[in-house]
Parts: sequence; structure tokens; C-alpha cells
Amino acid sequence: MTSNPESLQYRRARALGPASRLFYREPLHIVRGIGTSLFDADGVEYLDAYNNVPVVGHCHPRVVDAQNRQAGLLNTHTRYLSDHIVDYAERLLATFPADLSNIMFTCSGSEAVDLAVRIARHGRAGTGIIVTENAYHGTTAAVAAISPSLGTGQPLGADVRVVPSPHRLDDVASAFPAAVQTAVDDLNRHGHGVAAFIADSIFSSDGVVSDPVGFLCGAAEVVRSAGGLYIADEVQPGFGRTGAHMWGFDRHHVVPDMAVLGKPMGNGMPIAATVLRPDLAEQFGSQIRYFNTFAGNPVAIAAADAVLDVIEDEELIGNAQRVGAYLKSQLQRMSSDLPRISEIRGAGLFLGVDVVDDDGRPDRGEADRLVNGYRDARVLIGSAGQGNSVLKIRPPLPFSMNDADRFLTVTEQLLASR
Ligand code: PMP
Repeated sequence: MTSNPESLQYRRARALGPASRLFYREPLHIVRGIGTSLFDADGVEYLDAYNNVPVVGHCHPRVVDAQNRQAGLLNTHTRYLSDHIVDYAERLLATFPADLSNIMFTCSGSEAVDLAVRIARHGRAGTGIIVTENAYHGTTAAVAAISPSLGTGQPLGADVRVVPSPHRLDDVASAFPAAVQTAVDDLNRHGHGVAAFIADSIFSSDGVVSDPVGFLCGAAEVVRSAGGLYIADEVQPGFGRTGAHMWGFDRHHVVPDMAVLGKPMGNGMPIAATVLRPDLAEQFGSQIRYFNTFAGNPVAIAAADAVLDVIEDEELIGNAQRVGAYLKSQLQRMSSDLPRISEIRGAGLFLGVDVVDDDGRPDRGEADRLVNGYRDARVLIGSAGQGNSVLKIRPPLPFSMNDADRFLTVTEQLLASR
């Protein structure tokens, strides 16, 4: 960190403390965004190939207008009748399989996961939760305790079991359900029983795993036969990011018992939700009142509704599929003879580039060099997976073919510069 006590970075560290980390060796001071571009305090433009919250592009005028209009009219909690929340709920639920016909609004993905886990534990004999080995599901105490990616400083719950990240398994379609079965058996042996298996449908923090399509079905069956539920965490893959489908679980042709949504839902407005089967909503809601002050407020709903308008009108799911497929195939072509890039995974506009050392082990140092190299070339990406050794490419969905070409030009230079 800079030692100049007047600098923003120094003051930030002093005021916010060490838990709030910044990106990049040379942190960015971003002041403005539009579409797929971000601008720093000196007016320098960066191509955003990282941020999934602004799903329809930074500061999309239709979303900004919708939220501004509603902010000037009314912004209150949900204990009065309102058309907005019901219209939006019906519209969003129509994008889900018929079995998932109830929605409960929250303000963040963490709250949505927390609620789903609470509902699962409420109605089942067991309390056990099964997650992947590098999963991240959020910030509340209960959810941090099912998030192994937070590291050893954050202990997992006694009734939490981890299964390997799917890309580490040889025959995923059979080995992944088998791993979930082992976790179920262990939970039963220790007397915890099973409440749920929860997985990010594209395994973002495990290093982006999209294939083979369908491998989540077996895991869902295993957990259901043990009396538990399957919760799809759609906070990252949801809202069309994986191309062709609105929801990540759709790609796997599986229907979860609950799905949790967040990040892109309001293009930056804090709105998230748990979508669930009505019998689960009934089981929980008939006994427990759930009131979340800011959740589903009219301004957040106005933004979320405008997000759906833009996804439809600008055909962003098709764009994610088209541009994502181009990006993936070009990255595969570029790296086919590079032993340090072991695999390009992902679907639509969510790609992971697996960076390894000469012995084929995850190479955090090289991934870090690349992430910072992109940043210096004014292209923003991130990293994920074990030791942050997987490059994470996850831009706003209006990412164009020209944006993809700009990204690929920088990639070619960085891969050649080693
Ligand atoms: N689930 C997943 C898969 C996430 O990536 C995140 C956030 N990174 C969350 C849940 C928690 O969402 P939030 O930060 O909105 O609380």
C-alpha cells in the first residue's frame, strides 16, 4: 500500500480496514461507466470483461430512467399492496420451470442463500449442507460457514461437507454424484442428516465449470434420495449469462428445489431473491414471518423490471451465446500449443482459463501476472479457482464482437510476452 497518508488508498485502508481488498497491484480509481466501458479519474477508458452485476451494461439509460422515475414517486417497504412487486414476481417466475412458482425477495445474494439454507433446514430431518471444495456463497455467519473459499480462517460448520470441484474429477457424470453420495453417507454417519446440496450452476469460485452438460442431475438425485434438497446458486450464472438459457441449471436439464438469484438482477441496485417450490414456501412461511426491510422495494423492482426489458429487447442472451462462443473458440485456438494454459472452460459470456505451471499444477503467479497485464493494457478481468489460478472472463452481456477482438488482441500480446 502507498505510504502517502493523503492518498485515497491509504485513507481507504485506514477507514475500511484490511478485510476490504482492492483489485490489482496498481488499484484502479473508477469514476464512471457506460456499456462495457469504465473510466478512471484521469478519463482513461478500460474495457470491462469482468463485471457481471451491470448485466445490461453500466448505467444503461433505461434502467437509470426507471429507477429515477420510481425514486421520485415512492420508495417504501413491501407491507402495502403494490402492483410493481407482483407484476415483476409473475414476470420473473414465468422464466422458471413450473414447479418453482414462489419468490421471496432479499437485498443480497448472501441473504437469498441464507434464506434458502434456513428453509431447507427448517423442513427436513437433517441439517447437513453439501458444497464444493472452493465454493463461495456469501457473507452471513451461516453462509460463510458453507463457503470453503474463505479459507481456513473461516471454519466450516460441523454439519458441512465438501465435494471436489467437478473439473478435478475424471468422469464427472458419475464421479460427481458419487462424491455427493460419500458426503451424504458421512453426514448420516455423524448424525447430522442432510438438508441440502447447494452449488453455483457454473462453479465460478471453483474455477468455472460448465461441462459435461447434465452432471448436476445425478447430484440432485442423490441428495433427494437422502431426504435433502438441491439448491441452485444462480447469483453468478443467472439472467442469461451462459447463453441460450436464462438460468444456469437449465443447461444441465435439471430442476432445483430452490434457486437463489442476485448480482445482475437490478444492474447494480441491491435486489436478490430465493425462488422456490410453493410447498417449501408454505412449510416455512406458515410458521415463520419473513420481513426484510429493503427487499423488493419499488425502486429496486423498477430497476429489475427494466433489466428484463433490456435483456429481451436487446437479445442479450443470444449475444452472450454468439460472442461467448467466438471468444472461447479463439482462446482455444490461441492457447492450443501453450502448455501453461491447460483448459478453457465455460459457457456464454462466462469463461475460465486454467493457468498451470510446467508440472501442470495451478499457477497463481502466472495468473496474477496475466490479470495485472490485462489491467495495464486497459482490459479488466479477474481470477478464481484454487489459488486464484483461473482467469475469470465475465463481462456485461452487451459485450460486442469488437470488444471480443480487443480482448483477444491483448490476450495474444500477453501470452507472447512471457
Ligand atoms: N453466491 C455466489 C455464487 C456468489 O458469487 C456470491 C457473491 N460473490 C454470493 C452468493 C453472495 O452474493 P452477495 O455478495 O450479493 O451477498
